[in-house]
This record gives sequence, C-alpha cells and structure tokens, in this order.
Amino acid sequence: MNPLTIDILQQNWLLPLMIDILVHLPVLLISLKKKFLQPKATFTAALVGFTLFLINPLAWLCLIVFFLTASSLSFVKKSEKKNFKEVFEKGSTRDSGQVIANSIGAIIFSFLYFIFNINFTVLATNNIITAPLFVASIAYIAAVNADTFATELGVLSEKPPRLITKPFKIVPKGTSGGITLLGTLASLIGSILIASTFFIWSLLFPTIHDPTTNFLIVFIISVIITLAGLLGSLIDSFLGATIQQMYYCPTCDKETEKKFHTKCQSATTPTRGWKLINNDAVNILAGFGSSLFGIFLVSLLPPLFL
Ligand SMILES: [Zn+2]
Repeated sequence: MNPLTIDILQQNWLLPLMIDILVHLPVLLISLKKKFLQPKATFTAALVGFTLFLINPLAWLCLIVFFLTASSLSFVKKSEKKNFKEVFEKGSTRDSGQVIANSIGAIIFSFLYFIFNINFTVLATNNIITAPLFVASIAYIAAVNADTFATELGVLSEKPPRLITKPFKIVPKGTSGGITLLGTLASLIGSILIASTFFIWSLLFPTIHDPTTNFLIVFIISVIITLAGLLGSLIDSFLGATIQQMYYCPTCDKETEKKFHTKCQSATTPTRGWKLINNDAVNILAGFGSSLFGIFLVSLLPPLFL
C-alpha cells in the first residue's frame, strides 16, 4: 500500500493533504491556462484528482497519464482534424461532463477498493476481493485512454472508416461507430500505455496488500488491463453505432453529435439513437464494460495468484 494511504488509514491526514495540494495546484492552473479544461471542469478535475490521489494513487497516476497524453494528442495535426471536430459533440477543451465520464468508474472502484482494503489490512489475508476492484479501477482508465487515442489518431487514417456493426459499410470520417485499422491500433497503444503505467508502478512499489506481489502476476494483470481497455474502446464504437443519440444538421447536410451546430449556428434534429445517451454516457458505459471484463478476467486466475 502507498505510504500516503497508510498515513490516512492511521488518521494522519496533514502530510498527504499538503502533498496533495502541492501536486495539484500547478497542474490545474496550467490546464486552465492552456485551455485543456473549462473553468468549471477545472474544479471538477480538482475534486477528482484530490480524491483519487489519497485513496488510490496508482489510479490517480494513470488518470494523469491519460490527461497529459490526451491533451497533447489533441494538438497532433490539429488543422487536419478541424473538419471532423464539427461532427463531434465536444471540442478539445474538456467540460465537467467529460471529466466525470473519464473518471467516475475509476473513482467508484477505487472507493470500494479503499473500503475493503481497510478491513483486509486488519486481517492481512489475500486479495480475492481487492484485486478485482483494483484492476477494475485501472481498466476503466485504460478504456477511456484507448478511446481517446482511437478518436484523436483514428481520424488521421488515410482509409475511410467502416461501421463496427456493419463492417462492409464505409462511413464518413468522424462518424460515431466508425472504426479504422489505424484507430484500433491507436486504441491498443492507448490501453498499453495505462497498463504500462500500472506495470512500472507495481514493480517499483511491490507490497503484500496490493494485487501485485511478483513479476509474473504484475505482467498478467497488465495484459488483462490492456485487453479490457481495448474491449472498452470497441464497446464505445459499438454503442456509438447503435444507441448514441445523433443529430442531423439541415444547413450542412451532415450527421453530428451536437444538439446545436456551432459551425453554422443551426439547430439540429435528432435522427437516431436513444435520448439521454450522449457521448459522455457512451464513454461511461464503455468504461464500466472494460472494468467488468477486467474483473471477469481476474476472477479466472488461480486463487494462489491473488
Ligand atoms: Zn451545420
């Protein structure tokens, strides 16, 4: 367990709290200034970062890795992407809804992990309950990162995307549910990046209470996180092709995720998908799909492993 977490369990809040504030203030201020986050979202991100840092520092680190790489990726070939950005519901400056969608599963599973960890610290037994919760929290972020990589790099594909539900059907770039080989490879890399963060951290800080006691276990769990994140990204595309609410802009004669098309200042009309299922909802469902798949894979491991 992380020394800061142990401090908290022993009711020593002061030092972790001070480190927490010192770590977050500059990151948040830079994010606000560089317009990675909208002002309201900066507050939400502060709450998320602040909490995760104390209850599950590794999940926190993975979220920081996601945030930094996602923010940098939005700058890759920005001019080329400009045309597709009008299709997407959100721009590259994250709003509160996105911050929550990108982290809610990680927070919930980290809380559960934290609560069960308190009990098991006393008993000092195995990790049959905590290990799946821990993996679920990281798998959620792997899915979020995989999806962001797919979105940011997939639109650069020379080949047009195909609909995940009807692979024989070619769709315009930026279409929800459209996938390309480049985008899928990008999502695999995004997922591996989070799994590698887990891998390196776990080798640097091995303890008996974490589900990470030796090289082989750490490696197997990294593979599980990678697979779960990749699946999450595919679920995201699948939901984008099926239940995500899409709109039609009469002025541009185009399908869009936006209720209001800012490019042409036109109101759009709903065409397909379910009400309420916007891009954030799809990301949340895909993230939880990844977490549950991670839990399922961990549960297949022989008990001796955990
Ligand atoms: Zn329009």
